[in-house]
Amino acid sequence: MKKQQFVVIGLGRFGSSLAMELIDQGYEVLGVDRNEEVVSNMSSYLTHTVVADATDEEMLRSIGIRNFDCGIVAIGDDIQMSIMATILLKEMGIGTVVSKAISTLHGRALEKLGVDKVVYPERDMGIRVAHQLVNPNLVDYIELSKDYSIVELKVPSSLDGQMLSDLNPRARFGCSIVAIQKPNGCIVAPTAMDQIHTGDIMVIIGSNENIEEFEESVNNRA
Ligand code: ATP
Repeated sequence: MKKQQFVVIGLGRFGSSLAMELIDQGYEVLGVDRNEEVVSNMSSYLTHTVVADATDEEMLRSIGIRNFDCGIVAIGDDIQMSIMATILLKEMGIGTVVSKAISTLHGRALEKLGVDKVVYPERDMGIRVAHQLVNPNLVDYIELSKDYSIVELKVPSSLDGQMLSDLNPRARFGCSIVAIQKPNGCIVAPTAMDQIHTGDIMVIIGSNENIEEFEESVNNRA
């Protein structure tokens, strides 16, 4: 199957790290920035790089932007530029357009343009770091909806050797452990007899309220 091809417009901190991660994952990435120095710094990492103003329609057409599967507008500070670049990518018919917003109002404007996804890297990272600060065992989490999440929790030494039946999160807190990541692999859909050890990562699904109660009980035993 042909791998998706990405174009990243704006190679600031967010755009460049996103582009390099896509490269690390084996995808082809065209990086576009109007700043020559930025482009020259990135040229050895990305598949192709171009110095261009993302609001220059002719230029975008000439580099074949419409052939890409996904375009990411990673310009934040200059909202006018972000919106104009987003409009052009949408008009050119790129399959998926993702745009970075620096404020809620900016995000709402991008949504009105019909982008497939608006991302708020600064806001989301702030929330993520706050969660990790108040819960030292928290590795990561994904919000499934406003009320439900999947959370990765590190097993503290106080729970070393326990079986899932000892923790019994489903009966006690209404949330389920759907996987345990261990140094030598992952147990998917573990049974009550599976054991956890210090440093393992429990993947838990449930309502935010129930997961919080479970996290508190884990922290209290730490
Ligand atoms: P980050 O936080 O990701 O570093 P930022 O929000 O601080 O980004 P921006 O002003 O959004 O910085 O710029 C990100 C990149 O986008 C810069 O490298 C800038 O040169 C580039 N850029 C800004 N406007 C355009 C444009 N019209 N065309 C092409 N590149 C642009």
